[in-house]
Parts: sequence; structure tokens; C-alpha cells
Amino acid sequence: MVPDIFHREFTPSPYWWEAYTPTAGDLVEVPKSARVAIVGGGYAGLSTALELARHRIDAVVLEANELGSGASTRNGGAVSGGVNVGKSFTGRTFEIEPGRAEQMLSDASDAFALIDRLISEEEIDCFWEKHGRFVGAWAKKHFAAQAQRLAMLNAAAQSGAYMVPRERQREEIASDYYFGGMVVERSGKLHPALYYKGLLEACRRRGVAVCAKAAVERIERASAEWRVETRRGNVSAGDVVIATNGYTGNLTPALKRRVVPLASHIIATEELPEDLARSLIPKERTLSDTKRVLCYYRMSPDGKRMVFGGRARFTQVDPTVSAPILHRYMTERFPQLRGVKVTHAWTGNVAFTLDALPHMGESDGLHYCLGCNGSGVAMMTYLGWQTARKIARAVNYACSFDTSDFPDHLLYSGNPWFLPVVGSYYRLRDSLDRLLV
Ligand SMILES: Cc1cc2nc3c(=O)[nH]c(=O)nc-3n(C[C@H](O)[C@H](O)[C@H](O)COP(=O)(O)OP(=O)(O)OC[C@H]3O[C@@H](n4cnc5c(N)ncnc54)[C@H](O)[C@@H]3O)c2cc1C
Repeated sequence: MVPDIFHREFTPSPYWWEAYTPTAGDLVEVPKSARVAIVGGGYAGLSTALELARHRIDAVVLEANELGSGASTRNGGAVSGGVNVGKSFTGRTFEIEPGRAEQMLSDASDAFALIDRLISEEEIDCFWEKHGRFVGAWAKKHFAAQAQRLAMLNAAAQSGAYMVPRERQREEIASDYYFGGMVVERSGKLHPALYYKGLLEACRRRGVAVCAKAAVERIERASAEWRVETRRGNVSAGDVVIATNGYTGNLTPALKRRVVPLASHIIATEELPEDLARSLIPKERTLSDTKRVLCYYRMSPDGKRMVFGGRARFTQVDPTVSAPILHRYMTERFPQLRGVKVTHAWTGNVAFTLDALPHMGESDGLHYCLGCNGSGVAMMTYLGWQTARKIARAVNYACSFDTSDFPDHLLYSGNPWFLPVVGSYYRLRDSLDRLLV
């Protein structure tokens, strides 16, 4: 029987959209030409355009749907400075060769600094708070594995990370669910849709043409320029940036083969009694865990609701399917939330890569920034910024995520038909890990 978890005002759309709903607005005409055409109007696309504008390079952002309809207004709003770099959707943390791992963590740490600076410089009102993150150890052996990563995180990403044993876990979370965990002080949270809105306004203030409902259908070389064909007219551009992440499609088949689109799902609860709400996450951190099929959660910006996400399924499913699963995960961690109703449930796509690393670079002459691997609020903003600086020739060092090595696989053509099977398999592995402590 389906449990009665739905509030009478339940809506299958993001809680965040109550503050900013993706809209096409007054349609901006697609210009005939621009120095740079950017495909995709999420954080990565807007951040690219914003930095280009600062270098006085005119850019057009071409978005297929309403502005912000992708993951950038749907996410959990947890912002990290590198703790997830190299973690694949199988939960495995990839071994990155010595030297390169430190550089990547250092760049991820710069991504955190960039978002902090952008929010302040552009005066973006998005409930930006730097209260840190707690990553709960799902199994006993995970605690030891976390402890092993501490030194590198602190040295390369200045994470301010430290371990919290199980006996002191209640300082972090009103639950005994985990086997202790790791605090990462240099982490924060924001309202993802308001951050998006702020970036959009910053672009508009600088005269960037941000065109909604302008799906790019074809890109071809026409002598020295690119001809970019959209549903609402064509643009000729000197450079093209692909910023389509979990929505990368047949427009760029070579890139589609390099990213695996994976669904992530979130619920928001009704407003909780004040004392209960305040007790759940006493230090106002964001939380996630070391499960392969992980959960991530936080309180809403007003501190009144639990916003709880996870990979209830690896594919897009109706919120009426994902919400009961997430509700169960939530009450396993917080039995005190049994009986609490869900007011919102939604889903969106992230993009995983085959080496679990974010990537920027060039493919057949097209620039791209792709592959958030589930953690892209800071990272995709950063890759857009780096791509813009590269186009503007304003970089004095190569970003460690900018490599020609963007792996594909002989057996993967861009159709992730295998995800439901993989999801079930890793959920089973998670259960075994927990049992065999
Ligand atoms: C449910 C969920 C929870 C998440 N939680 C977190 C979190 O807590 N912390 C975190 O750091 N990250 C999180 N993420 C990831 C984060 O949201 C993404 O990494 C980030 O938003 C990606 O930004 P983007 O600009 O690269 O892509 P998107 O915002 O997805 O934008 C890509 C855009 O490209 C457009 N597009 C595709 N094809 C075309 C075309 N042919 N023409 C024109 N436009 C096109 C799409 O319409 C889409 O709007 C979460 C994601 C989801 C879905």
C-alpha cells in the first residue's frame, strides 16, 4: 500500500520555484551574430557569458526551454569545495594520479572561492551560508576510509575537514543512523533558484542576450565562423560553448557518448514544529553520506522544512514514485519525522563521466564544460568561468579539468538503458556493506 505521505497541497514541482519559476520572459531575439554562442542556459552557460562580458566579449546564451529549466534551479543547493571530486555514481572514488589529484582539489577549492566572490560582487540574494557539511559514514569501514582522505583534502583544498566519532555524532545530526562521519567546514548552502536568478540578472545588466526557447538544432563550420541554427533563427559565431550537462543530446554525439545522464530526486516537507525543525541539524550544515546511492539533505533557507534528496531511482520517474522512497530514507535517518507530509517532490538530471571527473576542453573545435558528477553548483559555475577566460586568453595557468582526455566507452553510445539495473545492483551493495560491518 502507498503510504499517505502527500500533503493536501502537494505539488510535483521544485520547492525552489516558489521563489523563482523558470520562465521564457519576453523572448529576446536571437542575434544574427555574436563573438561566442553558448548552448545551454544553466549555471555553466550563464557564468561563461558573464565572464565573457567582463572581458567585453559579446556572447549569446541559447537555451532550449524556459530559463533555468535544467538542473540549476532543481538541485539541493549544497556547495562544496572538492570533497566529491573523483566520486562516481557507483560510489567508488577513483584513484587520480599523484600530483593531479592535488591540482584538482586546489581548483575545486578555487571554485568555492569563485562562487563566494560572485555572490558578493553581484549582490546575489540567495541565502548563501557557509556552515559546512557533515558526511555520514554509512558503514563502519567507511569511517576509516574517510579518515584517510582528510590530510589531502585539508592540504590541497583547505577544507577544514575533521572526523566526528559516533559518540559525538549528535552534535551534528539528531540521529544515530551513521557510524560517525566527516565534517567539511569549507562548504556552504544556498537557494539554487535564487542563485540562478541572480546570475541571470547579472548577465542581463551587462547586455548579454539570453534567449529562451531557442533550442540549438545544428552547428556547422562555415569558413572561419560557426553557423549555429536554432529553432528561432541562426547565429554566426567565432566560438561555441556546449554547456548542456545532464541534458546533452544528439546535437553533439561525441559529447553525448561521454556523459551518462542520471536522475536525482528531492522532496520538501511541510513546515515542521519550530523546536523539531531546529533540533534536526543543529549546526545548520548540509548533510550527505558515503552510500553508493547516496542521500543529501538540509533544512530550507527559512529553517522550517527538511529538503531531502537522493537517487531514489537512477532514471526520471514520477514524483509519486520517488517521494515515498525518499520519505522512507528520511525517516530511517530521522524517525521523529514519521507522519510528516511532503509538499513538493521533483527531479532533474545530472551528468556523470566515465572517470568521475568534471571536464572542460575542446571537441571538434567546440568548447565544452560538462560532467558535474552530481556536484555542480560551484563546479559548473567555475568551468564556465574558466572556459570564458580561456576564450578571452586571460588565463595564466591551465585548469586541471581542461584536458584532451575525456573518456568514452566502446559499449556506450549515449543511451543509458542500463541505469535501472545498475541502480538496483548498487543499492544491494549498499545493503551488504551495512550488514557486513
Ligand atoms: C535533483 C538534483 C540535486 C542536485 N543537488 C546538488 C547539490 O546539492 N549540490 C551541487 O553542487 N550540485 C547539485 N546538483 C547538480 C547541479 O544542479 C548541476 O551540476 C548544475 O546545475 C549543472 O549546471 P549546468 O549549467 O551545467 O547544466 P543545467 O543547469 O542542467 O543546464 C543545461 C541546459 O542545457 C539546455 N540544453 C540542452 N540541450 C540544448 C540545446 N540543444 N539547445 C539549447 N539548450 C539546450 C537544457 O535545457 C538545460 O537548461 C543537483 C542536481 C539535481 C538534478
